[in-house]
Amino acid sequence: MFKFFPFLFIIFLLLNCETDPLLLHDKTIVLDPGHGGTADSDQYRVGPTGEREEWINLRVALKLQTLLEESGATVIMTRTEDTHVELADRAQLALDHDAHLFLSIHHNAIADTTANFPIIYFHGYASENLAGVQLAKSVASHLRKDLFGDEGPAVLASDHTIFPTAGTAVLRHSYGIPGVISEASFFTNPGEEERLKNPDYNQLEAESLYRAILSYFEEEALPVYEKNSLTELPPFEVFRAAERMSPEGLRWKEYFKKAQNLLESDDPEDWEKSYKLASQSVRAFADSYHARDAHLLRAEALERLNRTEEAAIARQRAEEFYVKMD
Ligand SMILES: [Zn+2]
Repeated sequence: MFKFFPFLFIIFLLLNCETDPLLLHDKTIVLDPGHGGTADSDQYRVGPTGEREEWINLRVALKLQTLLEESGATVIMTRTEDTHVELADRAQLALDHDAHLFLSIHHNAIADTTANFPIIYFHGYASENLAGVQLAKSVASHLRKDLFGDEGPAVLASDHTIFPTAGTAVLRHSYGIPGVISEASFFTNPGEEERLKNPDYNQLEAESLYRAILSYFEEEALPVYEKNSLTELPPFEVFRAAERMSPEGLRWKEYFKKAQNLLESDDPEDWEKSYKLASQSVRAFADSYHARDAHLLRAEALERLNRTEEAAIARQRAEEFYVKMD
């Protein structure tokens, strides 16, 4: 028995070691605190008592930088102060450094002040950007667990849901490198804004993102296929940042519920109404936790109305742009 002890001891160590301590030593990670330098020029990236998104993003990113560097990773920051940096330049840093991972850190805003849940964006189509989806799943599940007590929704969505034609600039220009935009929570929710002002809460989020990155690198790496090599969908126009804060933006849930009810009817006029309301719900809040189902409602209404081509596109959009958590 004794002579097997060293062998058993190594097995014991392997089983009990949560992560490989050298996992991040050969990794280059680009952290991108979203926005910056716009305190005087934009009025919608601000919470109910004046906390600004770009400040929150930077605090979390700097804390995450420390955690990653302590684990031996090489971290490139797109900004370390409240300054303006061009979106394409942020992505270029990832390309120039041959980064293994690109993480853009944001926090979200919507007219509905009760909304508060994580949304993680990947670029393009789920069937092509496998690594992006894999990273998005890791980030979403860790944030949901660490900041939301493993309760409530978390949305994994393509950046084409919010920027229908081309997606987001940072993810588009860095496409090929596994990357996501993390929107951990909504600073337009008063309670959440209060928490986000607290550096301890920012630390909690940074630690969650750190664990998400570790989990991602522990998994077998998936590929990123060339954009539009497998899929191509026409754009679906939606409300943009400032519009999202309009009164119409408040009605996303109401429209969705009505669309659901109208589809119970046998009257084709109600199906038409259902299609329109489901479309309006998605336009008002394209990345809400009902958006995937709203697109599926649109598809079902269109199928009943014999608009089969449009229905197929709506169904495919739900599958490619909204990924279910495992
Ligand atoms: Zn943002």
